[in-house]
Amino acid sequence: MKLVFATHNLNKLNEVQQLMPKHIILLSLEDIGCTEEILETAGTLLGNAMLKANFITQQYGFDCFADDTGLEVNALNGEPGVYSARYAGQENNAASNMKKLLSNLEHVESRQAQFKTVIVLNLKEKQYVFEGNCKGEILKNKQGENGFGYDPIFKPKGYHRSFAELTIKEKGNISHRGKAIQKLVAFLST
Ligand code: IMP
Repeated sequence: MKLVFATHNLNKLNEVQQLMPKHIILLSLEDIGCTEEILETAGTLLGNAMLKANFITQQYGFDCFADDTGLEVNALNGEPGVYSARYAGQENNAASNMKKLLSNLEHVESRQAQFKTVIVLNLKEKQYVFEGNCKGEILKNKQGENGFGYDPIFKPKGYHRSFAELTIKEKGNISHRGKAIQKLVAFLST
């Protein structure tokens, strides 16, 4: 079975493909000829995931799923949340986003945070929602080279390494996206 994952982010595509059973082959937006940026203008993770999935189904006619993720920091009242990708202004600039977050937490001892992912699946004219989250804390300095986004400064609960120090498989087993994808896979396998 081929299924479109509405993302341009090849890191994410790789992560998610590894969590899929062998019979589900993911197609990226490039694979279906969609090179345009789908603007995430909703104020919630669910709203943005719906926007992306619906855009692809309506404009390209494919069943597909889309995700939206936010990093919620308790001491910052849930920021950056739905604005995680453009926290420092420019879209998806991980270095600036991490710099801003570390600076906002400079004198803050309580560093609990969680990643939240919402997935919206459009399948055979029905819509389904799956969620996953991962609790942890924001480190004081970057650690590790793997992954993307805020990975070098997020340490999942119960681990002594940041997300960026885990292998793609280790991260997938415990991450927000991994958990949401596991629910999606269970659903697709029924
Ligand atoms: P998106 O909705 O998945 O594109 O996520 C929004 C933003 O959250 C991204 O631009 C990243 O900065 C951050 N993000 C999402 N997932 C992860 C992750 O697994 N690790 C670190 N940062 C992430």
